[in-house]
Amino acid sequence: MSSVTFEKATRVFTGQDRPAVNQLDLHVEDGEFLVLVGPSGCGKSTSLRMLAGLEEVDEGRLLIGEQDVTDLPPKARDIAMVFQNYALYPHMTVAENMGFALKIAGTNKSDISKRVAEAAAMLDITEYLERKPKALSGGQRQRVAMGRAIVRSPRVFLMDEPLSNLDAKLRVQTRTQIAQLQRRLGTTTVYVTHDQVEAMTMGDRVAVLKDGVLQQCAAPREMYDRPANLFVAGFLGSPSMNLMELPVVDGGVRFGDSVVPVGRDALADADAKTVTLGVRPENLVVSSTGLQVEVDVVEELGADAYVYGRADVDGTEQTIVARADWRKPPAKGETIHLAPEDPSGLHVFATESGRRLS
Ligand code: ATP
Repeated sequence: MSSVTFEKATRVFTGQDRPAVNQLDLHVEDGEFLVLVGPSGCGKSTSLRMLAGLEEVDEGRLLIGEQDVTDLPPKARDIAMVFQNYALYPHMTVAENMGFALKIAGTNKSDISKRVAEAAAMLDITEYLERKPKALSGGQRQRVAMGRAIVRSPRVFLMDEPLSNLDAKLRVQTRTQIAQLQRRLGTTTVYVTHDQVEAMTMGDRVAVLKDGVLQQCAAPREMYDRPANLFVAGFLGSPSMNLMELPVVDGGVRFGDSVVPVGRDALADADAKTVTLGVRPENLVVSSTGLQVEVDVVEELGADAYVYGRADVDGTEQTIVARADWRKPPAKGETIHLAPEDPSGLHVFATESGRRLS
């Protein structure tokens, strides 16, 4: 087990106008589960591949524990990677697949069998050990891929979208199992996904990347409650946070026919006529005053209902989403007023720079 450190790690591909990963500074604690998340092309896989030694580092360096691994070949890094496609050898049995790396490393047969048996028991795949991968379901293959990483007892696990080939239900089950297993083993893990729900539910901390640049790294709750900028605010949360550019008035920002109080410091800091107010759907409630909204769609999800409607936000028509009481949601076509329920749950951003003000 070991910590992982990216120090200004940068990767520039020839022919690209900007680095795929740009001056990445990130420290993953020993035993921590860190999730790298962001939209397609943001540099998640490239970051992971640099750590694995599968991609060159053009600038900066990478450490595992105290050791500088920047120029070490992949084999010498003592890491195990779980890929999206599992990369199992089709001609080998499950047991052979799981034990292969140990065999190459010269581990004796009885040790290999013991470690494979232990990992198989942990993953509940003992009964498949003599099967070939093609005789397994997607979920079982996924576990074999995990098992292959576990038997090596590496310093670090690297996982690149390991659940993306599973159906929705299995993905939910498996994400819990992987998170539990990681905590039981205590192995430092860097996990890549584009799925924000996976990131929020699995990670001790989450690092959000955009265009190769780290936007924020924080515990899931903190990131949800205090996103550092407009990008993170819009990226995490489903349905997304409502982001509205609103005029600054005395004491707050104009919100329909009312004024929403936001911190004076934030507005002084903004030094602008408008700010972007962020309100999560669960913090918007039907009220007698506030923003006037024409209800277009009411989405009833059982425990929750979401209302999607159109509002005139300071002269621009915008879609607004609010969580409604599922027992008595507004009706389609109705005109309602929405107002923030909890002023302390409001987010204020500078519109130009996107930076959080309060
Ligand atoms: P995805 O979720 O789609 O896998 P990602 O966040 O993992 O995306 P990367 O695969 O790291 O993103 O890619 C980051 C950027 O680098 C993208 O613009 C991509 O096109 C580019 N890139 C990745 N690999 C190469 C390569 N071998 N040659 C040139 N450009 C590359």
